[in-house]
Amino acid sequence: MSERGFYDQGALVAVLTAQPIDRLLDYKAPEGGCMAGAFVEVPLGPRKVIGVVWGPGVGGFDLSKARSILRVLDVAPMRDELQGFLTRAADYTMTPLSMMLRLATRAPGLGDSPAMRKVYRLGSGEPERATDARRRVIKALGDYGGLSFTLGELAEVAGVSSSVIKGLVKQGVVREEDSPRDLPYAPLDADYSGVELMPDQAEVAAAMRTSVASGVYGTTLLKGVTGSGKTEVYLEAVAECLKQGRQALVLLPEIALTAEFLKRVEARFGAKPGEWHSGVTMTERRRLWKMAGEGAVQLVVGARSALFLPFRDLGLIVVDEEHDTSYKQEEGVLYNARDMVVLRASLCSAQVVLASATPSLETWANAEAGKYKRLELTSRYGAAVMPELRCIDLRSESIPMGRWISPTLRDAVAARVAVGEQAMLFINRRGYAPTTVCRACGHQIGCDHCDARMVEHRFQNRLMCHQCGETKPMPVVCPSCEVEGKLAAVGPGVERLAEEVTALFPEARVAVLSSDLFGSARALKEQIEKIAAGVCDIIIGTQMVAKGHNFPLLTLVGVIDADLGLQGSDMRAAERTFQLMRQVSGRAGRVEKKGLALLQTTQPEHPVIRAILSGDEETFWQAEAREREAAGVPPYGRMAGIILSSEDVAVVFDLAADMARRDGPLRAVSAQVFGPAPAPISKVRGRHRVRLLVKADKGVALQGALKAWVAQFRVPNSVRVAIDIDPQSFL
Ligand code: ADP
Ligand code: ZN
Repeated sequence: MSERGFYDQGALVAVLTAQPIDRLLDYKAPEGGCMAGAFVEVPLGPRKVIGVVWGPGVGGFDLSKARSILRVLDVAPMRDELQGFLTRAADYTMTPLSMMLRLATRAPGLGDSPAMRKVYRLGSGEPERATDARRRVIKALGDYGGLSFTLGELAEVAGVSSSVIKGLVKQGVVREEDSPRDLPYAPLDADYSGVELMPDQAEVAAAMRTSVASGVYGTTLLKGVTGSGKTEVYLEAVAECLKQGRQALVLLPEIALTAEFLKRVEARFGAKPGEWHSGVTMTERRRLWKMAGEGAVQLVVGARSALFLPFRDLGLIVVDEEHDTSYKQEEGVLYNARDMVVLRASLCSAQVVLASATPSLETWANAEAGKYKRLELTSRYGAAVMPELRCIDLRSESIPMGRWISPTLRDAVAARVAVGEQAMLFINRRGYAPTTVCRACGHQIGCDHCDARMVEHRFQNRLMCHQCGETKPMPVVCPSCEVEGKLAAVGPGVERLAEEVTALFPEARVAVLSSDLFGSARALKEQIEKIAAGVCDIIIGTQMVAKGHNFPLLTLVGVIDADLGLQGSDMRAAERTFQLMRQVSGRAGRVEKKGLALLQTTQPEHPVIRAILSGDEETFWQAEAREREAAGVPPYGRMAGIILSSEDVAVVFDLAADMARRDGPLRAVSAQVFGPAPAPISKVRGRHRVRLLVKADKGVALQGALKAWVAQFRVPNSVRVAIDIDPQSFL
């Protein structure tokens, strides 16, 4: 290596690939040398794969055998900061580094030479006839000073058809040019527009601006009821970040949120941000990935995996709805994006804003302990007031068999619909009915591969396992006793509720929002926009409707079963129910009209229900925190879940029992192991699942102990071992 971070031709370097190999591979630097962090193509057996120059080679073998890097890719080298982050994240989550690299390179064709495409710029000629449409094209090209557009982009910005543009090309007014495909993003203007903030909002915004301007790491909990202006305020922090010349990232929990959100960002900064989620085309993904590395995208709005983008200079990360469970990835690399955001920010001197109306207990506790700053917005913006919350005691209502809407709730819905307002009914169960029972023999139809009941989906006329996705047609006879015509739906699902609503309100326009009823994210977005515009009277939804959508006409929310979620073995059940109920009721009355939220429950005296109704959050958090502390569970202790799975139930139980017995490395750090027990879902896709839970004190270096512990055992090939640090769900 001649200068810092550069390897001369022939120098031995260690390359990390995204291949499932448990170590770095040595190669010789190519002709012209290469930078540390360079993305390169290397030979691997007969294949060519992409990797990153991770550091100096280790050697220790016949160097004449070392193969050479084939070429350096035309993308920005990975920065030290991202290398460090991937290393730390791999250690924390006990994931091979190669898998972390895969997360950080999820864009196709990084090695391709930039393909060409046609772009359009202002030419020199004058139009023959200056029609309105033609003038708009010229103005659009002028407004963006020198920036070129694709045909589609220009047509959209100017509001004309592409034939108008083609006509102008013929006249020489517009120039058509070939250009590399991956263009920078349109610049954002921090001062483009902005609302006049209310005094409390302005105070919070000023504090956040100061943090961002400081240029050092820090995390802030931004707590505020739905509609209090959290988004408005954190966009001010983004504006400050842009002014500092650094990049900003906003993470959102659900792709359904982005349509409305992107429009808001565009209105605030005058141009679209970069977008990163599963609905984005491959070409756009690659463009965004490259531009992030070149600093040519100032703001990225995305789903959790956007946090692995190779930003050149990330100054701010906002995690909106930070309590949302979708930030925890539950397959492949098991990581919590919220926690990884804090880690990354601390390595690149960025600020983190965790925004929520109902923060997770982890975040609440970190703020209590003074590790995070806490800023709060306490009132809703404008005339919008918090909805009134009331419970309906189901024990004193008479509801016919197979029905779930109480007379009180029914009357409330009727009153809203009569005056042209919207009502939303909420049930956290997809499908028609959670259980299908044979009335002749009592048999419940289960999944053949899993320990789960099959859920009837009547729209599709099939039974579905929500665990593995297996479906089968609704049988005519009972699979157990073979009696015909006795299978009955038991319990409510969102589809069945829709049926009840249609029967109760035949005149009303009803919309059902359930994730499985939409073929694509786009279809879902469109439906949400239509609902916001008022095309329906009654909305029926699962938990996805609890997330962030703005329905101005909505003034009533009815929660069909507030007790769902209070039962169960999950230590987070109370917290989840509390958050969900508060968000659902937060949907009502976001604009001028006062909202009402009605919770149907059989346990009005339950502490969670009482805390929701009284709105006394601090009391709820304090009580919940005390219980967790007493139990020594997160955030007051450390936990890891170990799930062993195999098709052979005996093999997997034997191994788990052996692991529980030989717990020396865990005991050395005073960690305890519980189990083995069948996992709450004990069979998935034909694999039997056994769980061990490890609990330790807060200060313990748990990963090292886990590693030493697991290393003691010879794990048969047929058994998979997954380690879940800080498990969120106990499935
Ligand atoms: P939250 O993110 O807390 O739910 P939002 O930032 O979405 O709140 O604000 C709720 C609504 O109120 C939005 O339509 C927003 O544009 C509007 N709003 C909030 N603060 C202001 C303000 N100071 N001036 C004008 N509109 C505002
Ligand atoms: Zn199944």
